[in-house]
Amino acid sequence: MSERESDNQADGGNYRGNSRLRLRLDKTAKAGVPIGTKSCNLDCLMCHNDYFLYADGSIRAISNQAFADAVRKVIAASRVSQSVIYLAGSGEPTTVGIAELTNLIQLLKEIPEVTAVRMTTNGVLLKDMAQPLKKAGLDGVRVSINSLDKQVYFFITGAYGLEAAIEGIKASLATGLEVKVNVIYSKLNDREIDDFIRFSRSHEGVVVKFFDLLPNNRLSERLHLPINQLENKLARHACEVLTLDQVYPSRLYVFDPPGLVQVKGFSTNHCPNLTCIARDLCVEDCRDMVRIGLDGIMRPCGVREDNTINLIAPSVTEEHIREALHSGGKLETSDPIDTQVIKSKSPNIQTSGNDV
Ligand code: SF4
Repeated sequence: MSERESDNQADGGNYRGNSRLRLRLDKTAKAGVPIGTKSCNLDCLMCHNDYFLYADGSIRAISNQAFADAVRKVIAASRVSQSVIYLAGSGEPTTVGIAELTNLIQLLKEIPEVTAVRMTTNGVLLKDMAQPLKKAGLDGVRVSINSLDKQVYFFITGAYGLEAAIEGIKASLATGLEVKVNVIYSKLNDREIDDFIRFSRSHEGVVVKFFDLLPNNRLSERLHLPINQLENKLARHACEVLTLDQVYPSRLYVFDPPGLVQVKGFSTNHCPNLTCIARDLCVEDCRDMVRIGLDGIMRPCGVREDNTINLIAPSVTEEHIREALHSGGKLETSDPIDTQVIKSKSPNIQTSGNDV
């Protein structure tokens, strides 16, 4: 086994270099629908709602056009030349239906700076959607499958959806979509590592991507296993290990016969906001992505509520958006970042009283 460095940029590159911006859109409700309840066809044990929380159930989901306008505003304010969009959210994007999803993808792909649109999904409804989604401009899917064992899958999700999700992956591969299988590593699937390697081998082009389980409640603390335990097992059988230089550190384990398993590491926080008091809470995707919710609110950090900003408010300016992005460490800058100054300067910044 050999190990070498790679500057693979496939997952969006470094937004802090001010050249790429990773945006995560919560498209899990149809336009106009009240957003108080989660829309998902599974009920996963470890769900953290993708860090989209909505306090006021009376608010209705914004339209696709409003999402596209919001994305344009954030891209203009951040002055990036490229942006990668992830459709995901507090529930399951495919539950909104194919017409609304394809319309949103088409609107997003009309934005010159948007270089890719990908969707995170449980894959259960994907089989019949893959082709129209690809035709609309979708570039890839991230299919969450935390076990390849039917019973364990049922235990985790509350549904017998494994076969449907695998059919969704096959249909996606057949249409030419990039496919990654997202897996949260835990005591529930530790014995399936060989099965996941075999899955990648038998579905050409599929990268199986493991994530650490966030130990943020008693259940996840009980299920958590250190990610280096997984990496030690993978390293024993891999013929090569690539260290990927992306917005977050990760390693790609290459197997022969061909199979690819990626492990996302996040132990080091590279956010330039060194004085942020939420640094210890800030992990995984909450630090790498700028989120736009069903309410039109931009969340520069997944775990902070003190620097969110209403993108659909008529009075919001590019300067307000830049200040919020700056506060969340999402802009390249040599200026020191002072959260309190940011809050006092921007009238559009949402202060929910949940300052962390
Ligand atoms: S500013 Fe945001 S991304 Fe940076 S450490 Fe704080 S919570 Fe994390």
